[in-house]
Amino acid sequence: MSKKMIVIAETKDGELRNVSFESIAAAKKITPDGEVVGLICGAEDASNLGQELIYYGADRVITVTNEKMKSYTSEGYGQAILSVVEEESPDGIVMGHTSIGKDLSPKLASKLDTGLISDAVDVEVIGDQIVFTRPIYSGKAFEKKIITDGITFVTIRPNNITALEKDESRTGNVSSKDVDIKDLRTIVKEVVRKASEGVDLSEAKVVVAGGRGVKSADGFKPLYELADVLGGAVGASRGACDADYCDYSLQIGQTGKVVTPDLYIAVGISGAIQHLAGMSNSKVIVAINKDPEANIFNIADYGIVGDLFEVIPMLIEELKKVAV
Ligand code: FAD
Repeated sequence: MSKKMIVIAETKDGELRNVSFESIAAAKKITPDGEVVGLICGAEDASNLGQELIYYGADRVITVTNEKMKSYTSEGYGQAILSVVEEESPDGIVMGHTSIGKDLSPKLASKLDTGLISDAVDVEVIGDQIVFTRPIYSGKAFEKKIITDGITFVTIRPNNITALEKDESRTGNVSSKDVDIKDLRTIVKEVVRKASEGVDLSEAKVVVAGGRGVKSADGFKPLYELADVLGGAVGASRGACDADYCDYSLQIGQTGKVVTPDLYIAVGISGAIQHLAGMSNSKVIVAINKDPEANIFNIADYGIVGDLFEVIPMLIEELKKVAV
């Protein structure tokens, strides 16, 4: 059955976030023969980004440019997206389960009077059903869900559905749409950045996370060096954040960020259940801890029992030898 899907793309610092390409791949899985329409909203003209979405599998792209979307607000973005959805009447919508996706999707679903499956990590078409898999109980189990009526609206967890290969020979129409956004009732006056520059933690393929065992803010420096060699991002346990070794924006876990990188290196982290909730679905987990009984070793694929201050410099040295 041929369907039309809208993929709400997300940008950061003028670039498309990887989850936008993963969302296109998810939409393509839902409707291999249907039409996938990318949607980019913002204050700057995004025609060049539209082309990028086409290379990653979108059939056509709509951009909506409006000064009132200079900063993200659910009110401004919501109006723009609803206007496009109204005109396009899609069978489904896919977007990333990011901070924006988490904020926007329930509001859109409610306005569209449809169901929403959030935080999907996989999508399969079984017979005539589209089945989504999503983690429950902090990742300790998975449920499979279907939408029985209305628009197939889903948010997907970053780093779980593989984006399609970039194909620069693909062509498609990139059009712009004017949307009249009513005066916003809330406006962003200033954005104060706390997260460190560099690789985005929630989308990183490699995460090096430090815990209370790192012992100080200075103790985090070798972790940054290791993350740098591996092209990854630095994260932390709440223990490390509470001890003021790093900013709370790095916290991973039940009350922090949920990450699913290809490689998660837990350094001086005991493996409390609340921490595991944010990283246990990582593809490969390496734990470095001086306590052989530490709980983190129960979920680690590889464990190094040792003093992190000896192990990390050795790792950096060896990795630098093989780094290209
Ligand atoms: P610790 O438990 O103190 O572990 C430090 C580890 O470092 C130890 O295993 C030790 O053996 C090792 N170590 C020490 N020195 C070295 C060395 N030189 N070399 C190698 N290893 C060394 N926690 C989170 O992380 N994320 C959350 O989102 C979160 N949410 C929470 C929500 C609630 C409601 C509650 C109650 C708690 C939450 N916590 C969360 C806190 C959680 O319970 C733990 O307290 C916290 O994860 C512990 O952090 P840690 O592993 O860094 O510290």
